[in-house]
Amino acid sequence: MEDKKLRIETTCVQGGYTPGNGEPRQVPIVQSTTFKYATSEDMGKLFDLEASGYFYSRLQNPTCDTVAAKICALEGGSAAMLLSSGQAANFFAVFNIATCGDHIISSSSIYGGTFNLFAVTMKKMGIEFTFLSPDCTEAELNAAFKPNTKAVFGETIANPALTVLDIEKFAKAAHAHGVPLIIDNTFATPVNCRPFEFGADIVTHSTTKYMDGHGVAVGGCIVDSGKFDWLAHADKFPGLCTPDDSYHGITYAEKFGLGGAYITKATAQLMRDFGCTQSPQSAFYLNLGLESLHVRMERHCLNGQKVAEYLESNEKISWVNYPGLKSNKYYDLAQKYMPKGTCGVVSFGVKGGRAAAEKFMKALKIIAIETHVADARSCCLHPASATHRQMNEEELIAAGVPGDLVRLSCGIENYQDLIADIEQALNTL
Ligand SMILES: *Cc1c(COP(=O)(O)O)cnc(C)c1O
Repeated sequence: MEDKKLRIETTCVQGGYTPGNGEPRQVPIVQSTTFKYATSEDMGKLFDLEASGYFYSRLQNPTCDTVAAKICALEGGSAAMLLSSGQAANFFAVFNIATCGDHIISSSSIYGGTFNLFAVTMKKMGIEFTFLSPDCTEAELNAAFKPNTKAVFGETIANPALTVLDIEKFAKAAHAHGVPLIIDNTFATPVNCRPFEFGADIVTHSTTKYMDGHGVAVGGCIVDSGKFDWLAHADKFPGLCTPDDSYHGITYAEKFGLGGAYITKATAQLMRDFGCTQSPQSAFYLNLGLESLHVRMERHCLNGQKVAEYLESNEKISWVNYPGLKSNKYYDLAQKYMPKGTCGVVSFGVKGGRAAAEKFMKALKIIAIETHVADARSCCLHPASATHRQMNEEELIAAGVPGDLVRLSCGIENYQDLIADIEQALNTL
């Protein structure tokens, strides 16, 4: 089966796994930490990356690889790996090509956890980040590059600000400076946007969100497009383009080519050393979610659109942010990058500010207060007092998260029920 030739809906259901005669129809859960070999020599070849095969599930596991292959096909990439969380995915994606003394350019409108990872924890590791508004001009973007810049980072649709990234603008600048563009595609999912088609080089996911979609398992994924030419910029990427002494002098970009170097290095070095592994059981759950991703995304987007339109017409609401609304600043960009729809997340302000927002949320009956998004069940959150509480007022504004913002993640219920729930809660104000 040629995954790449299939339409996205078919790949959601069948990608990554083609059982042979008499083999299980569903992806088997290979619940084994280890794998048996006849000779030490066979095993040695695996450790030297001379042969491919499994030896220890911290590095690779057949269930995880099967599910990674499906996500790889969905994104149209060359190689992919699963990780224990979206946080691990973004950490590995950057740390695989940047080290102490390096510099990264990131959109300032990103997930709070990623902002903290970059601005606090990776800064302690000696990696410097410049945060730029996703709406910056090309001139501002180009001016941010330094000789030690190693990558550019952004989110297709930012969580929770819902800014839409002009992926082509960011890709053009990254490539003009000889570095890859890393896109966190969690909110759009490959069903609605495939960033590689617009010039992105590496895609990350928190699979915890729409891909899982049922609030079952925390997980992450990194996909490589296989298009970035590391060897053409060998001076910038010594980790990929010079011999790795911890793997008997292998030069990843030479031995595994453009398509395999990045993911092989991230697996062989970072997964070996940090061990942010996804369990086979979680990968199995993730795959169940992926099987219906295309069906669910359609409903999440319908519900998001209907709820956003309702909120926009309600006088108790001060503002509504949803990229599918014609009045939205990002409507044109959303139409370009996500013509099928954006996501089910809508943010808005309740008149009366923070206190009114909290009262409104407390009165909701179907929509639950949760630190989660992108679930089949609708939920809502006040980010300034939860996910983004480590940010000061200035950083909150830069991240597009004002204090009165309510983030509502529309599930796949009936939108009339969701609107009725919102209406009765607004009536208590
Ligand atoms: C949730 C989220 C993450 C972090 O993922 P976890 O699986 O919670 O570690 C990263 N990026 C985005 C856009 C997210 O929404």
